[in-house]
Amino acid sequence: MGIPLPLLEIPPLPDARKPTWLKVRAPGGPHYIRLQGLMRAWNLHTVCEEAHCPNIGECWEDLTATFMILGDVCTRKCGYCAVTHGRPTWEDREEPERVGQAVAALGLEHVVVTSVNRDDLADGGAAVFAATVHAIRRKAPRCQVELLIPDFQGSADALQKVLNARPDILNHNTETVPRLYKVARHGGRYERTLELFRRARRAIPDLLTKSGIMVGLGEERAELLATMRDLRAADVNILTLGQYLRPSPRHLPVARFYHPQEFSELAQEGKRMGFAHVEAGPLVRSSYHAKRQVASIGNGSWST
Ligand code: SF4
Repeated sequence: MGIPLPLLEIPPLPDARKPTWLKVRAPGGPHYIRLQGLMRAWNLHTVCEEAHCPNIGECWEDLTATFMILGDVCTRKCGYCAVTHGRPTWEDREEPERVGQAVAALGLEHVVVTSVNRDDLADGGAAVFAATVHAIRRKAPRCQVELLIPDFQGSADALQKVLNARPDILNHNTETVPRLYKVARHGGRYERTLELFRRARRAIPDLLTKSGIMVGLGEERAELLATMRDLRAADVNILTLGQYLRPSPRHLPVARFYHPQEFSELAQEGKRMGFAHVEAGPLVRSSYHAKRQVASIGNGSWST
């Protein structure tokens, strides 16, 4: 155990003055254009596009995308999220197969599949997650499958349905510290998030688990570290930490921008807490460098 480093005290910057380290190049390379065409032609959605992810140019050029299943309308209205919310009308029984085909056509070695919240469905969409895993296994058997799941409103049965499909990685985002759930995560419960990880660990002891936190929503440093410790106590293996960016003036403002050095120090703190891997940086999102994150910790070395 090393001595914890003090984190940098950097004064908050107003939202309008985005620091230079958050600037990215506009997307438009050949792989980006190919992926964009494929998503439209096959009527598939990605969180990369729906959430206005700043990494889309880099990730899509690297043939990495996060498929968003179960439609593009979310039943919750989180204060930070750019995905459309409302009453979903989506019903697309062929979607799992098309995702499988797209993964195979792109030759992906690692895929992330997520969804909008579907609190209108009895199982929250868990069966569609499972069907998508099975379709990918059939069409692209060598591809690692990472599922970034919603909380299914705390349903143990829905979670079990997903676990029965045996994803390689189970990811669920914590997003923020418990005090800010009320303003940022309508419908979310902090304790439910932790319980999801405990249940998953009990069900599959060697499952690789992962969670993400956005910083800059107004959390205190002590709250952030306590949240990281809670995730470790729930035996989460991989942690992602990234800067919250306001998608539009209708969304929650940025309370402060973290300096890249602070992310490095938080990553060190996380490693000291026992996370097998911490991906931390201003532009880190939960699926950013997902393939490399798993590769960096090696096969089975996360088991505790
Ligand atoms: S970080 Fe994730 S959501 Fe953003 S572009 Fe990359 S794969 Fe898509």
